[in-house]
Amino acid sequence: MNVQRKEVHGWRKWFAFLRNRCPRCGQGRIFAGQFQMNDPCPVCGLIFQREEGYFLGSMYFGYMFGCLFIGGGFFLLSWLLPTWNDYAIVGVIVGVYLLLVPFVFRRSRSSWIYFDRWGCLGDVSDGAYEKAAKLNAQHD
Ligand SMILES: [Zn+2]
Repeated sequence: MNVQRKEVHGWRKWFAFLRNRCPRCGQGRIFAGQFQMNDPCPVCGLIFQREEGYFLGSMYFGYMFGCLFIGGGFFLLSWLLPTWNDYAIVGVIVGVYLLLVPFVFRRSRSSWIYFDRWGCLGDVSDGAYEKAAKLNAQHD
C-alpha cells in the first residue's frame, strides 16, 4: 500500500466526491463492488468506517435523496401527466427509485464520509475500531 497523506482540496475534492473516491487522497476507490467497500483506502490507507455503526449516518442522506426523488418526481409527473391517477404516478416513481437503490446506497455512504470528514479532518475523533484497524494495517 502506497501511503499518501496529502489531502486534496478545492475542485479536486468535488471531482473525487462525484467519482466516489477517497476524501483524503482523491484517488482510492471507496467501493470495491456494487455494495462492497474498500476499507481502508487502497491508496492512502484512510479508514472509511471510523467506528462501529458509523454508516448509520448515511441513512440520513439516503432518506434525503429518496424524499427529493420521490417528492420531486411526483410533482414533475403530476404536471407532465395530468390525466394519470396519483397512485399510478407514485407506483411508477417508486418502481424507478427501487432500480436506483444501488446508486443511492453508494452516494449516501460517500456523502456521509465526506460530510463527516468535512466536520473533522483529522484523526482526533477516531474511535476504538479505527484505532485498532490502524494498528492492524501497520502490522500488515
Ligand atoms: Zn485515500
